[in-house]
Amino acid sequence: MSVSPFFTSSDLAASDAPPTRSRRREDIANEFKWNLGDIFQSWEEWDAAYKRLDEGIGRYATLKGTLSGGPARLLQAFQLAEELGQLAYRVWYFPSLKYDEDQRDNSVNARRQQVQILFAKWKQAESWFNPELLQIPLETVRHWMDETAALGLYRFAIEDLYRQQEHVLDERGERLMSLASRLASAPNDAYWALSTADAKFPTITLSNGESVTVSYGQYRAILATRREQSDRALAFEALHNTYQSALNTYAALYNAVCHRDWFQARARGYRSTLEAALHGDNIPTSVVENLIETTRAGTEPLRRYHRLRRRILGVPSYHVYDFSIPLVTFDKKYEYSDVLDRIVTSVAPLGPDYQTRMRQGFSGGWIDVYENEGKRSGAYSAPVYGTHPYMLLNYTDTLDDVFTLAHEMGHSMHTILSHESQPFIYSNYTIFVAEVPSTLSEALLLEYMLSHSTDPLERIVLLQHAIDNITGTFYTQVLFADYELRAHRLTEQDQPVTSETLTEIYTSLLKDYYGDALDLNPRTGMTWARIPHFFNSPYYVYQYATCFASAARLAQEIMQGSEVEQRQARERYLTLLRSGGNDYPMEQLKKAGVDLSQPHTVDAIVTQLNDLVSRLEAELSRVSSKDLPSGA
Ligand SMILES: [Zn+2]
Repeated sequence: MSVSPFFTSSDLAASDAPPTRSRRREDIANEFKWNLGDIFQSWEEWDAAYKRLDEGIGRYATLKGTLSGGPARLLQAFQLAEELGQLAYRVWYFPSLKYDEDQRDNSVNARRQQVQILFAKWKQAESWFNPELLQIPLETVRHWMDETAALGLYRFAIEDLYRQQEHVLDERGERLMSLASRLASAPNDAYWALSTADAKFPTITLSNGESVTVSYGQYRAILATRREQSDRALAFEALHNTYQSALNTYAALYNAVCHRDWFQARARGYRSTLEAALHGDNIPTSVVENLIETTRAGTEPLRRYHRLRRRILGVPSYHVYDFSIPLVTFDKKYEYSDVLDRIVTSVAPLGPDYQTRMRQGFSGGWIDVYENEGKRSGAYSAPVYGTHPYMLLNYTDTLDDVFTLAHEMGHSMHTILSHESQPFIYSNYTIFVAEVPSTLSEALLLEYMLSHSTDPLERIVLLQHAIDNITGTFYTQVLFADYELRAHRLTEQDQPVTSETLTEIYTSLLKDYYGDALDLNPRTGMTWARIPHFFNSPYYVYQYATCFASAARLAQEIMQGSEVEQRQARERYLTLLRSGGNDYPMEQLKKAGVDLSQPHTVDAIVTQLNDLVSRLEAELSRVSSKDLPSGA
């Protein structure tokens, strides 16, 4: 069995903007800070736990060679691993969360690194387990599970290990793979060096005379705030010139990514790179293929939205750099203490018990609300087993911050329900389902705020927020998956992967998805070089899209239909949240009523976007022209 991966959800576009952090931590009232005392009361306590973990890892190593002794020995190994796993959560998160409070603190960082070193030692100390277990015929182990009730608990984990065995090589083969694996990260390492450390970011002069160096963070800020289209165009051109100057090198690196993936897939007996990537979670390749195909057939609402934006922005031609500028200017503040009740009320469709649990979370020392000097940027929810989830925010009273809070609370409720309902070994959910509750939380809040807001500008901003979520978290991620699949297929079919072919693929995808709603320019097609996910985690982003589609479908069922149907849908959904990782994610979702192998699941998103665009269009027609950028 493997060490729990300590999955902390952090989100797609969480943070690039450099916040102003003038506030000192001690000036913030305790009620707005998380209480790490729930993990350990002091560093002395942490020290003692660290030693216990270290000593337990040593004991685990001594179990090597015992498994064939029978069910009692196997059980002993599982139980010790669980005991260590539970302790490890608290030993890791105490210094890790403490460090995020103020990342300038080197003594805390040293303790954090100390845990990382211990985890590496642990990984080594348990490396014997899988090969040793797999030496025992599955039939024998099944017999053990039948006769030893306590071992039956591990059935799913054991069966899964044997399922994966099909692609495990013999000892010589595994040794070769492990030697080759040291080269595997080279293209990504080189990508980071090229796109950050070695990149020369250009300086541009904006229309107001201000001079700005176009780093990636600044680029995003300009696109989201500069009303002059020429400023956005200038920033786009400047940043992409940086990529263009090394485009053949980026292509060579991506070619290496494709070849690495194809080498690993073939060596392990997979038919394609996609099959190899999905096998771990037991996802059929048809899920990704169906996702792409159904989305391609459902691009009309996406185009409709961008045509509407072009009209409202009043620009002569409409480009990718016009995607993130807001349609109206809106600076309403949402004070933290005022929004908690609204978020709790918005989840009423999930039942009173869910609401009570959430209220406890808001007042239970779970959340670190405001930014302060040295604090980590962005937002996340950390699942600290044996305590409760902890949430880091950098709340600045914007509407986006309100939705981030609802989003992270969705993750935390998932954690709470999984941890209390599942035995430790299945308490951890996979990334494939992780973004379902966070997205659903946001959807419920949006519905609630839309139905209660009387401010027309706020309604427009709310609708735009929902639409941008769908375009960014669904359509863009599917387009990315489409790109990855096409590029990898070139390699699988012995075709060359060059800067020309990659730019051609990306350009044709933009045309397929956006049609005539988008004007292309000479640099749009090279965007592939700018997307880090392509280089560091191939075939990963499709999961954002499948989670999004699943959440949309579930939200629909929870909020529509007869009272009985809604209650049944709610129960199915809560069962999903309570199921942690006790089954393959596709099966978990099917039990909740979502079948990702069926096109209608994806169609629900297309319908939802179309509906939201109609609502936005209607709202826009009601506000006076002076509030709109085109003044039309
Ligand atoms: Zn998330």
